[in-house]
Amino acid sequence: MFDIKNIVRTNILVMKPYSSARDEFKGEASVFIDANENNLGSLAKDQGYNRYPDPYQRKLKEKIAVLKDVRPEQIFLGNGSDEAIDLLIRLVCKPGFDEILAFSPTYGMYDVSANLNNVFLRQVALDENFQVQTNRLQGQINTNTKIIFLCSPNNPSGNLLDTPSTEYILQNFDGLVVIDEAYIDFADKPSWTTRLAEFPNLVVLQTFSKAWGMAALRLGMAFASPDIIQFLNKIKPPYNINEATQQIALDALGNAGRLPGMVKEIIKGRQYLQQTLPGLPVVRKVFPSDANFLLVEVSDANQVYDYLLGQGIVVRNRTTQPGCHNCLRISVGTEKENQALVAALQAYPEA
Ligand SMILES: *Cc1c(COP(=O)(O)O)cnc(C)c1O
Repeated sequence: MFDIKNIVRTNILVMKPYSSARDEFKGEASVFIDANENNLGSLAKDQGYNRYPDPYQRKLKEKIAVLKDVRPEQIFLGNGSDEAIDLLIRLVCKPGFDEILAFSPTYGMYDVSANLNNVFLRQVALDENFQVQTNRLQGQINTNTKIIFLCSPNNPSGNLLDTPSTEYILQNFDGLVVIDEAYIDFADKPSWTTRLAEFPNLVVLQTFSKAWGMAALRLGMAFASPDIIQFLNKIKPPYNINEATQQIALDALGNAGRLPGMVKEIIKGRQYLQQTLPGLPVVRKVFPSDANFLLVEVSDANQVYDYLLGQGIVVRNRTTQPGCHNCLRISVGTEKENQALVAALQAYPEA
């Protein structure tokens, strides 16, 4: 039976976490002179920012718990899901010793966070449909492998990963399995949060940066067993989610009813591009997508990238990524932007 305590680094198991003024006093009082704040107020336009924010974001978690059908103790909030990726690696990987595993091509931050922490990232190639082949894991996992990252829908390919291979990894790997669902709101499949009770080693990452349209705020979510969440709370910077972010996110959660309509419109844009792009001479292939972007193979990615830049259109050139030769990653924009992209590609002067 998986127990997070068996893989948490020893120094973290024994360390005493920082205890803030707000941790140590939780009762009712009228005078708060315990945190060296400015009790006169602040120079910010809005008031209320002179106090340190709730280190555990209780109000926010209560609302997220209802929306996601989990308990507040199963939620960790990070300064972007990128912070959760970094903390998960630091929680269980001994620098210069342990390893993580991810399937390429995929999101770049697993590699960056691994390198920053001096943790080796073992990369296993996805197949030609950007799916996991579990037989490719032969010889890739050892007792130092502490985390397997699965990105679903995967960035930059856009597809959901198959359920059976994911289940196989969850059932057979004795470390953390992190499923990064940054794009799940655009997919026609339930989140793996619905299966947290089955898999004690599962961590699901989601974010407010994509469908919710709040990339600038930096707010990411990790869902896992209360045991795992408690360790993340133990090692996080004390006030990692600032007060402005907490207030704006609370407000946005109040508008959650508007999310499906916005997502629907973006999916409509995706479908327009999926139908239109293959008819253009410069386009070789449009890969299937469960996200808000498309991986598109063109005649020459570097040339088309530069050409589009000249037209004032920035896309992401992914040609150097494994399995992505001559591929551009293109986000779905507004209706006008999608049309501008199609018009520009239509007018591309093929050599
Ligand atoms: C965009 C993205 C994220 C988002 O990270 P934030 O730090 O929450 O903005 C996470 N994972 C993947 C795969 C992404 O593409």
